[in-house]
Amino acid sequence: MRKKVIAGNWKMNLDLKESVALISEIKNGLEKIDNIEVIVCPPFTSLETAKTLLVNSGIFLGAQNMYFEENGAFTGEISASMLKSVGCQYVIIGHSERRTIFKETDEVINKKLKKAIEHGLKPIFCVGESLDEREKNLTTKIVERQIQIGLKEIPQSDLKSIIIAYEPVWAIGTGRTATPDQAQEVHKFIRDLIKDLYDKATADKIIIQYGGSVKPENSGELLSRQDIDGALVGGACLKSASFLDIIKSA
Ligand code: PEP
Repeated sequence: MRKKVIAGNWKMNLDLKESVALISEIKNGLEKIDNIEVIVCPPFTSLETAKTLLVNSGIFLGAQNMYFEENGAFTGEISASMLKSVGCQYVIIGHSERRTIFKETDEVINKKLKKAIEHGLKPIFCVGESLDEREKNLTTKIVERQIQIGLKEIPQSDLKSIIIAYEPVWAIGTGRTATPDQAQEVHKFIRDLIKDLYDKATADKIIIQYGGSVKPENSGELLSRQDIDGALVGGACLKSASFLDIIKSA
């Protein structure tokens, strides 16, 4: 049975003091969790402190982005080894805000995924269609392209390190959630695609999270669907009460 993985993407929110407060609240409020993995992804500036606070908590640490080069003249960027050095185990790659605002292409995302894996970071690889694409019935075509190019030349043995997050762009930060049926349909499509690209064992094992306005009111139903193995949570992870309620519903 696949475990459930609940990750919180803090985005560009919370300074150091606020980060300490949120992590402490999550840690204190987290009850014993069986077969659920919890990940927090604070901004870069809070990662090292978060690592110290999370020791022995059972909560994992992730970053929200990284660059695919080792080091050098890339002002403002951060490398995989830098993230490792402050205790990150996970890194979000290809978030729709990176794709749309910062113009990241599928090819760039592929390079980032490879570099993250090379350094022992587990990527949370985000895919998802825009509203326009959904309305034109292009959802599976878009998701297929993102996955095919994103995973290009990544061998089957590395798939165990990757989480895929299906995040329809029209549901991110909008309050509009995909219905459990809509989400399950795309998750099943992704699992079948992984089976075609790799094999059944790999497809059966891979964790596929849903993201897009997940909140305590809808998380239980979404997470009860067969191919929905967790959630990537934005807005609702910034308050410990709602993040903890989502974890409890898993
Ligand atoms: C996200 O940032 O990945 C996300 C899903 O955001 P929200 O939950 O706010 O829609």
